[in-house]
Amino acid sequence: MTSTDPTALDAARMTRAQRAALPLSTDVAQALAEQHGVCVRPLAMRRIDTTTGRVEVVPVPCGSTREDQCRPCAEKARRLRMVQCRQGWHLETEPVTDRATPRGDHTALMATRADLLAAYGDCRKAGDEASCEQIAESVADLDTELRARGVRGRLTPLDPPPKPVKRSTRRRQDAPDLPRRPVEHRTLGRVFAGRYRPSTFLTLTLDSYGRVDGDGAAVDPDTYDYRRAARDAIHFPALLDRFWQNTRRCVGWEVQYFGTVEPQQRGAPHFHTAIRGAIPRTELRAITAATYHQVWWPAHDQLLYTDGRLPVWDIRAKGFTDPDTSQPLPTFHQACEELTEPAHVVRFGAQV
Ligand SMILES: [Zn+2]
Repeated sequence: MTSTDPTALDAARMTRAQRAALPLSTDVAQALAEQHGVCVRPLAMRRIDTTTGRVEVVPVPCGSTREDQCRPCAEKARRLRMVQCRQGWHLETEPVTDRATPRGDHTALMATRADLLAAYGDCRKAGDEASCEQIAESVADLDTELRARGVRGRLTPLDPPPKPVKRSTRRRQDAPDLPRRPVEHRTLGRVFAGRYRPSTFLTLTLDSYGRVDGDGAAVDPDTYDYRRAARDAIHFPALLDRFWQNTRRCVGWEVQYFGTVEPQQRGAPHFHTAIRGAIPRTELRAITAATYHQVWWPAHDQLLYTDGRLPVWDIRAKGFTDPDTSQPLPTFHQACEELTEPAHVVRFGAQV
């Protein structure tokens, strides 16, 4: 009897191309995880039962907010934000959290954090950068959670902070040309006519890099500033952080917002945001114009090493060396110490 099942596959009889077209087992597992709404890249954590001494491996969701990293976790985070928005946007009073005594959820979170910290140390020692990165993200989320639940005070950093780089006043980023008010501990905006507490909508756009056509392509590729466009796009999130910091310092209360970064047709990111509370347009314009972010990176506008001539890894010194002179190359941190000016400064463009 011969098999008539059309779904039965005999890998040995397939061509290479046919085999390559088959789904990978990891892809299947990921699709299954997404179907069931569970984390696609959970972190395996060791939990030791202190009474029995038994070691258990527990999967912890990655908690990513990015769909390209983990769709179920990102979806969960998105839903949480939606609930937070629905419940919190129109609050008329500041939510008060009782912080008198640590609650059970606080201590549980802190215990998880301690476990993650230990796991991070192990991965760091083993040189497992990928896991370190995952753990760091989980810890960042945990910290957000801890802060959100009212836990105050210093949380042990994952890595001991590097020796502070002496920064001249020229490098100070926290002094834009803006009025500055002490930030009050409140999130509510002004009430108008005794009953209205309006919100503010705002779009922030990057500068022009040259004229573009209807499809967003450069009209004159020779003069279009691709380099500045690329750098601005890379550092856009840092510019946004700076914007909110400046906004809070300028208006004097803890401004809350929901926002989304979207690519424009020309490829540049821009930002739409809804702000809880009213901020005058003139003030927002002044903050936008005064906000900038300095990128203190070593110069990266010239290729020093290309395909045929690449730096050589020195196993003993655990560093890269010049292929010709064998001299050790400076690390990123060392190169940063010698900087006298930022490699790039990001600003918003003229807003319309
Ligand atoms: Zn996940």
